[in-house]
Order: sequence, then C-alpha cells, then structure tokens
Amino acid sequence: MKTQTELHRHLDISIRNSTLLELAQAKGFESQSTSAEAFRNKTFIREPMTDLDTVLARFEIFPKVLDRPEILERVAFETVEDCHREGTAQVELRFSPAFVTSHSKLSWETVLDAFERGIQRATRQYPDIKAGMLCIASRDFGVDEAARTVEFLIHHRSRFLGMDLAGNEVNYPCRLFEEALRPLKVLNIPVTIHAGEAVGPENIWEAIELLGARRIGHGISAIQDPQLMRHLRDKKICLEMCPTSNWLTRSVPSLEEHPLPQILRAGIPVCINTDDPGVFEVTLPSEMDLCWKRMGMSLAELERCNQHAADSAF
Ligand SMILES: [Zn+2]
Repeated sequence: MKTQTELHRHLDISIRNSTLLELAQAKGFESQSTSAEAFRNKTFIREPMTDLDTVLARFEIFPKVLDRPEILERVAFETVEDCHREGTAQVELRFSPAFVTSHSKLSWETVLDAFERGIQRATRQYPDIKAGMLCIASRDFGVDEAARTVEFLIHHRSRFLGMDLAGNEVNYPCRLFEEALRPLKVLNIPVTIHAGEAVGPENIWEAIELLGARRIGHGISAIQDPQLMRHLRDKKICLEMCPTSNWLTRSVPSLEEHPLPQILRAGIPVCINTDDPGVFEVTLPSEMDLCWKRMGMSLAELERCNQHAADSAF
C-alpha cells in the first residue's frame, strides 16, 4: 500500500535524467554520442557546492528544454509516475512560471495547462496517487514579478493548492515581499516560504509574521532560536526539510549534523522531501534511508515525519 506524502518537490527540476538527455540531444545542447553515465556525471550535483555559478549552471538546462507544451506535459506525467513508483500516495509539486519560461516564449497559462494535463493523465493512470501544484514566485526575479505571480495564482485559484516564495534569501529577505504577497493573506490562500536555508532564524520569523507562512521550506536555522522552536511547535508550522539538498547546498555541514532529528524530537512538525531530484539524484525512499542510516532516526520517527506531511498538506 502506498502511504507516503511529499510536500516539497520542484516539478521544473524533477525531470528524469534519461528524459533530460533525450531532450538536450534533440535540441542540440548535448552531443548524440554523450552516454547516459557521462550525462549523469555532468548534471547531478554529488558533492557540496563550492561556488554558486557552478550550481546555477546545473539548473540552467531545465528551462532550456521545457520549451514546448508537449514536453511540459510529458515531464509532469513522468514526475507523478516517478512519485508513484517511489511509493507516494500524495504529492505537492511546485513550479515557478517565471523560471520555466525564462528561456522560451511560452505563456504562463500554456505552462499551467500543460503541467496540469500531464498530472491529470498520470493520476488517471495511477489512481492511488493524488497530486497537486503550488505556484512559486522566485525572489531573484524581483518584487514586481512576485506580485505578477500572485495575481496569476489568484486568477487560477482553483488549479493551485497554494503559493511558495523561493530563490535567493540572502539578497531578497521576506520583508521585501510583504506587499506583493498581501492578497494571499486577504484571500486566505495557503503559503509556504523557503526560509532559514541560507540565512538565520530572522527570515523564518518574517516568513511567518509578515507573509503568513503556514509551512516553511527547509527552516534549518530554526534550531538556533528556542523561542522560534516553541512558536513552530505551538502553531504547528511544518518544516519541509530536504536532507541531501541541505547538505549539497551547505545549509548543514554534514548529514550527521542535520538538525532534523532534534527538531522532530522537540515536537515540531517536520517532514522529509526530495526538493530537486533532477540535480540532487534522490528519491523519497533514498532520503528516508539517509535519515535512518546517517541521521540516527528510528522507523517510528520516519513514520511520524510522514504523518506530519499528511497533516500539513494544503
Ligand atoms: Zn525547494
């Protein structure tokens, strides 16, 4: 029986590596002679990142290949199929319309229609998985683009589960987006915010108090602030943690030092997620396995994380 829930997985960075190679070759970004193994070595990040440019270069290929509706539909279908194969019963997939269309002339509507078709086709074929979408505003595209993304989400309200704010939190703290995200508060649309991944707990406070976050993406730095820890516990604000991603982006020094077990044991709802399988080479079961083998968590604790994910789903 499939019982897992996953809340934090980027649809636009979840392309199967074999599909990514096929698309890159068809578009001439990659030589026909590139082997699957060589391409995996080139696309996956396997060691903690040293410089941002190298990492950003790994992400660049995704919007470049996502340039036709039928490709978007296929990618969405395959992502849900992959989640189903991983044993997932419920998944929230998120994408940034500004990022997806950053290398194409596709309209945001076309992107939404195509992703939705792919998801619907997959859930018809695999009826024991439920899948929905979150709309991401990317901080790096600026406040006006975030406001436009909020407008887009509101216009298509019934097709999204909620909103996310992602991207560079060092240069773009949450407070910059308070005005842009205000309509979501007014309309009571659920919001999750990437926060406390690269900076301290103050950005998690701002995500909750200024942006009305009901969940936090990552939230690693919450461990530094006992008052915040109590607040997260009392308000049942779920931290969507992504162990491999957090290690590879250097949010934690090692998997063994990841604060997830400690945060869970403090009574805070926390769940386990893959984040970006297309660059981090992970699955939900492989992340669970790491939590068990490298982070000292018991099977009962893994089950608790899964229950938190189910309880905190939008
Ligand atoms: Zn993320």
